[in-house]
Amino acid sequence: MIKFLDLQQLNAPYRDAFQEKSAAILNRGSFILGEEVQKFELNFASYCGTKHCIGTGNGLDALTLIFRGYIHLGQLQPGDEILVPSNTFIATILAVLEAGLQPIFCEPSMDSFLLDFSNLEGYITPKTKAIVPVHLYGRLCQSDELTAFAKKHQLLIIEDAAQAHGASDGYRKAGSIGDAAAFSFYPAKNLGALGDGGAVTTNNDELAAVIRALGNYGSAKKYQHDIRGVNSRLDELQAAFLNIKLSHLDTQNQQRRAAAASYRALINHPDVMLPDDTFGHVYHLFVVRSARRDALQAHLFTNNVETLIHYPIPPHRQGALAEFRELSLPIAEQIHREVLSLPISPIISNADLEKVAKAINSF
Ligand SMILES: *Cc1c(COP(=O)(O)O)cnc(C)c1O
Repeated sequence: MIKFLDLQQLNAPYRDAFQEKSAAILNRGSFILGEEVQKFELNFASYCGTKHCIGTGNGLDALTLIFRGYIHLGQLQPGDEILVPSNTFIATILAVLEAGLQPIFCEPSMDSFLLDFSNLEGYITPKTKAIVPVHLYGRLCQSDELTAFAKKHQLLIIEDAAQAHGASDGYRKAGSIGDAAAFSFYPAKNLGALGDGGAVTTNNDELAAVIRALGNYGSAKKYQHDIRGVNSRLDELQAAFLNIKLSHLDTQNQQRRAAAASYRALINHPDVMLPDDTFGHVYHLFVVRSARRDALQAHLFTNNVETLIHYPIPPHRQGALAEFRELSLPIAEQIHREVLSLPISPIISNADLEKVAKAINSF
């Protein structure tokens, strides 16, 4: 069976480095907000091209803390409307709701799976205050159009960059095109820890300070709590692992692009649509589309190819979001019915790419 993603094999090359770092941390005995977290925040801010990076417990918290931070600063008010793509992972929406804001589900483009700037004007009301581009599957949401649209309507841009570490449009990287961005270091992401982790990137000094305090019990100074915060910090051990892996991210993203190029060259089936190749795509996922998706997935499984669906149920159809159930979002629904994620990773072999392609071509 060709696995969808082999995390054991993906992390194996770093085993010695991980063990050395873990031993050094054990020797130091400093486990929370130590020098590895500090180092990672500097490294990742510099990698993304932002002034600040603040580690968080996970990606959902990173998003939530951005919204809460803007509310604390008075730049967002509870009830403000936030534009989100209707086909995102549920975390994007949960963060908006958690902060007391109102998500507005915007139909994406069927070709890119990203926000569609040709229909976005229609969602604007006097209460619209921010837009959340989700760089879904590793493709950067068009940054020039995005900035122009946000400027025209005076919206904050809050990037959900959880799937797009290193994605770029040639001059700006994911995490640096908006006012603030949220990353996840969940093990399966392009930059993955050995457990949960997340981060916020921003150039805004005030926001960075508020988020840093909010994630640490609302305390800017030890045992002084000026705001009601939570406990959501990047773990010292995870930061150490991420420092090791960050230096390999660009190479790994290049390997993902090469794998995607192979799929493009090898797969040829009238009922299977391949994703457009765009510059700077980091292929967190290689997502094809087929009107016969479920039969295709079953056929691949019979041919020893494991695939996944990102995501089988659109957010507005989830039990947790019942109040949005009646929304008419045909594009999101079609996407969720038709998408299928093929195995892809920096270490997928040419032999496996060929086997997957052959299995699809025989569908
Ligand atoms: C993974 C992911 C998140 C949440 O990250 P966690 O670290 O799992 O909390 C948010 N948004 C998107 C698009 C994701 O893929």
